[in-house]
Amino acid sequence: MRKPIIAGNWKANLTLREAATLIHQLKGSCDTDAADVVVCPPFTALAAVAPLLKGSRIALGAQDVFWEAAGAFTGEVTPPMLVDVGCRYAIVGHSERRTQFGESDEVVRRKLQAALAHGLTPIVCIGETLAQREAAQTLDVLTRQLDGALGGSPPDICRRLILAYEPVWAIGTGKHATPEQAQEAHRAIRQWVADRCGPEAGAAIRIQYGGSVTAANAAGLLQQPDVDGALVGGASLKAEAFGAIIKAAAGTGAASPP
Ligand code: PEP
Repeated sequence: MRKPIIAGNWKANLTLREAATLIHQLKGSCDTDAADVVVCPPFTALAAVAPLLKGSRIALGAQDVFWEAAGAFTGEVTPPMLVDVGCRYAIVGHSERRTQFGESDEVVRRKLQAALAHGLTPIVCIGETLAQREAAQTLDVLTRQLDGALGGSPPDICRRLILAYEPVWAIGTGKHATPEQAQEAHRAIRQWVADRCGPEAGAAIRIQYGGSVTAANAAGLLQQPDVDGALVGGASLKAEAFGAIIKAAAGTGAASPP
């Protein structure tokens, strides 16, 4: 049984006061053991949100992480700092980092290695652009990104991370992948993991879908056999919508095949 995992990526949103209000509202809707729930506030809010999560089942995650542990790297936030503030997860390779901040597969690889070395669970994002999908390159792109991020690592790496399939054309656009499109990509990703890390790792790895997930479309996506959760941007800023997505995941989780 793969437990679904729902993560909220708040991106560059919410002041400390707004973050506290959202956490307060969320705590009521996240009291389930049938899905793992993570919130990823901006760096400025991590230290304020961490104590608010005490006594709840919601885990703390960061939206990014640097690859070195400490030093003269102005503006960066390192894995030990994130662990120190209470993070358990770190998003790595989000398409907004790749496209707007020039992060290469090699940067993604270094960041996820650093996260793992310090006990964080990386949520590694991969996904194709619209042009790549229209050119029928989706599976090639996913393979290239997986090779770039994970290739060369010992096979047990696949047991220690979460993958997120996030088609770039679906992020923040209101256009989500159809359940069939998501399932096709997720099945291919799982097959890559099985080939690279062994069939047990392939069966065990959790693969989130991300891209305009809402309360309305979550159930259809999460019911797909290879979709194990969601990485949620915009809808994670609204307690009601995020709570409904968690409920949908908890419902499908109970029925998920092993
Ligand atoms: C994201 O930030 O990873 C994301 C999927 O955003 P949205 O849900 O807003 O498309």
